[in-house]
Amino acid sequence: MFLTISTTGSAQRPATDLGHLLHKHPEKAQAFSTSYGTAHVLYPEADAEHCTAALLLEVDAVALVRRRKGKGRGGAPDAALAQYVNDRPYAASSLLAVALGSVFSSAMRGVCTARPELPGTPRPLRIEVPALPARGGADLVRRLFEPLGWTVTAEPVPLDTEFPEWGDSRYIRLTLLAADLTLAEALRHLYVLLPVLDDAKHYWVSPDEVDKLLRVGDGWLAAHPERELITRRYLSHRWSLTRQANERLELVRLAEADDSEVEDLDNAVAQEAEADDEEKPTPLAVRRREAILGVLRASGAARVLDLGCGQGQLVQALLKDPAFTEIVGVDVSMRALTIASRRLKLDRMGERQASRVTLLQGSLAYTDKRLKGYDAAVLSEVIEHLDLPRLPALEYAVFGSARPRTVCVTTPNVEYNVRWESLPAGHARHGDHRFEWSREEFRGWARTVAERHGYAVEFLPVGPDDPEVGPPTQMAVFRLGTPKEAKAA
Ligand code: SAH
Repeated sequence: MFLTISTTGSAQRPATDLGHLLHKHPEKAQAFSTSYGTAHVLYPEADAEHCTAALLLEVDAVALVRRRKGKGRGGAPDAALAQYVNDRPYAASSLLAVALGSVFSSAMRGVCTARPELPGTPRPLRIEVPALPARGGADLVRRLFEPLGWTVTAEPVPLDTEFPEWGDSRYIRLTLLAADLTLAEALRHLYVLLPVLDDAKHYWVSPDEVDKLLRVGDGWLAAHPERELITRRYLSHRWSLTRQANERLELVRLAEADDSEVEDLDNAVAQEAEADDEEKPTPLAVRRREAILGVLRASGAARVLDLGCGQGQLVQALLKDPAFTEIVGVDVSMRALTIASRRLKLDRMGERQASRVTLLQGSLAYTDKRLKGYDAAVLSEVIEHLDLPRLPALEYAVFGSARPRTVCVTTPNVEYNVRWESLPAGHARHGDHRFEWSREEFRGWARTVAERHGYAVEFLPVGPDDPEVGPPTQMAVFRLGTPKEAKAA
């Protein structure tokens, strides 16, 4: 079981700096004893131009079996165990990841006291893992590593080179190349993704693994497109841990995405669209709030949910109208809620006023009893922040479980993006938008949702309604009841 890490260099930036970074001298072969066997670090090549470090783990299969038995997970070795004894000594897996983490722990943390400037500087890296068990094959290997900046070569290893007709084994020969990553980043990627690909941990996953995953995943995991799969497999399919990890990572991701961008871009849209108007142009965000307030007032709602309330601008506007007696802002982001509470001056509000407003932390991807029984709910510029596969969960939580009488949903109209000079072609309006829909796509979704949950739906433009591409913001208003009643109302 082994992997190699190589770099190139020059007289000014010698490749042998790798030795400093790894805290292992290139001229010595060293051995470290771990609980599952011996880890060796040696350098097959080490000069100014080329330097390669190899980590070789000699697994003690007997120790492995003994430890498994000692864990009290039943006596007799099971089928999975038999497999361990068979391929563990040769395949990269969670054992190799653990060895990597213990032998190169300072390097993984990016610490180098002797040469503090080294760890933060990316350098050309080449990583080879000759036998990587990969459930999900070469395709998954690419989906995991490419978003992180690696160029991936993943070749299936044949079962037997003498008998090609036997087909491929479940092993991949993996080569990773990168020019813009630091060694610490590279090691953290491997530490998490090797066991994820193997999808079989050699030890029992305890709740503190969530902390470890968040620590090692810092800076790259929260926004990874395969985050769900990574957390699920890394945490050995333990559902509650996976959910915990994803909720925490979601907060990280949202904190990373720059919220202020939303308003800035909205303002730009409205100003360009109305540059000829004599009056001072109204920012699109303001128009949207006015449109939503109009819908809510017309619906006669008194108790209102603002789902994905963000920094609380709509909650603030709702508070100004005494018709709204109970206002609940919900958001997954603690950071957004903290800003909202500051904006509303919740701590300095009179008792009566304060009794009208509640801020709740929660994810709309899960049903929530606290959200039942309201007159109306608003989802303003929220749905596009969810990954498409998560949208049905939100749909069920809102329309199936909470079931307010009126639901007002707004989202960008992607067709309008061409009218926006400052937006490069094909770009979303905000870095965190997971999708942006055309009018047809939004209407298709909204009609299906309405039908499935017994609502009638109507569509309204927000902002200047361009004859060709439509308005910048599209709105759907859902009303509970038969379509006939809704129309009559
Ligand atoms: N409604 C506000 C904010 C829109 S930004 C407005 O119109 O200005 C999108 C908001 O949705 C963010 O505050 C984000 O934290 C929140 N959000 C994203 N995914 C969420 C989820 N799964 N559950 C709850 N809120 C979510």
